[in-house]
Amino acid sequence: MLAPQVWEAATQANETWVSIPELLDATGERIAELCGAPAARVVPGASAAIALGVAACIVGEPGPDIERLPAVDRPRRVVLQRGHRYKYARCALLAGAELVEPPEGEDAFVAALEDGAVAVLHPGHLDGGDGTLALDRVVSLAHRRGVPVVVDAAYLSFPLERIGSFTAASADLACFSAKYFHGPNAGGFVLGTTELVEAVARLDFTGYESGPYRTFGRAFKMDRATVAATTVALERWLALDHGARLAGYERRVRALADELGDLENVDAGVQQFTLDERLVDEDPNALVLRPAAGASWTAGQLADRLADGDPRVMAVAEDGALVVCAETVPPEQDAALAGALRAALAR
Ligand SMILES: *Cc1c(COP(=O)(O)O)cnc(C)c1O
Repeated sequence: MLAPQVWEAATQANETWVSIPELLDATGERIAELCGAPAARVVPGASAAIALGVAACIVGEPGPDIERLPAVDRPRRVVLQRGHRYKYARCALLAGAELVEPPEGEDAFVAALEDGAVAVLHPGHLDGGDGTLALDRVVSLAHRRGVPVVVDAAYLSFPLERIGSFTAASADLACFSAKYFHGPNAGGFVLGTTELVEAVARLDFTGYESGPYRTFGRAFKMDRATVAATTVALERWLALDHGARLAGYERRVRALADELGDLENVDAGVQQFTLDERLVDEDPNALVLRPAAGASWTAGQLADRLADGDPRVMAVAEDGALVVCAETVPPEQDAALAGALRAALAR
């Protein structure tokens, strides 16, 4: 849900007209300043950021190849460590990239870099995983060979110091999604070097009508309300009392667990449901319902019952448990949620 001041920013943008290139330049400058990066630009989400960012690595300068993307006759190899295979790597292919996935080890990685690579795609949330080279090492090996590094930092906007950490570590571009900082679902931004952010700007939707080339990025269009709302959502996120935000989730899920405590067919507990969809025993943000011994329901069945109820509750069945995250329930609906859970558990 967009916070009132984010919605207000969208409303204000809608109440007037603006030069979209000027708006993108100005919001980019503001975001770069807020995040301590050399340059930034609003784009329609992290997937678009990866596609545009990789496109900018393939065609980094003005010229007719801008409109030959994605089938441009140029080197298009993008290196993704095999241990980093993940679902959003597919977005690099939209730009015409050929993914090269070297196996474990520095030698194979370097060989891939030296075989005509134009970029490395580094999923930031998988950084440090077993059998993979960490970002610092990747940057150092890649830069020594003139290859830029694009980081998918889609949900790494918390803790706040993470945001600027990728460009601080000399990554050339970091891609963020506004869906993870309570911004518009169709928003996001890139942080990066001036050179690469300018290359993204040259390829994006704004140049298609007004510039010399039919730009690759026309299909990633944004309206001014989304650009304004993304920027204000980020400002709000950076100023938010995150301690209070997290404490609020915990208080609410504990209250919900207490509320269901008298039911005999359920063990109601609290855990943290992480952004990569695991249950861990850290600061709780989720109500976790497991069948008590002898209970006649499974998490999947309970999820179906809740989805069929009125009001509908969409919950996740994970690891044999039903998971309800506080973040996606407005506090004033907690009582209705407790009622729906009770009704579903009574069936
Ligand atoms: C959600 C997500 C994306 C895509 O972001 P959008 O803004 O929805 O395009 C990319 N990478 C990761 C890791 C994500 O979680």
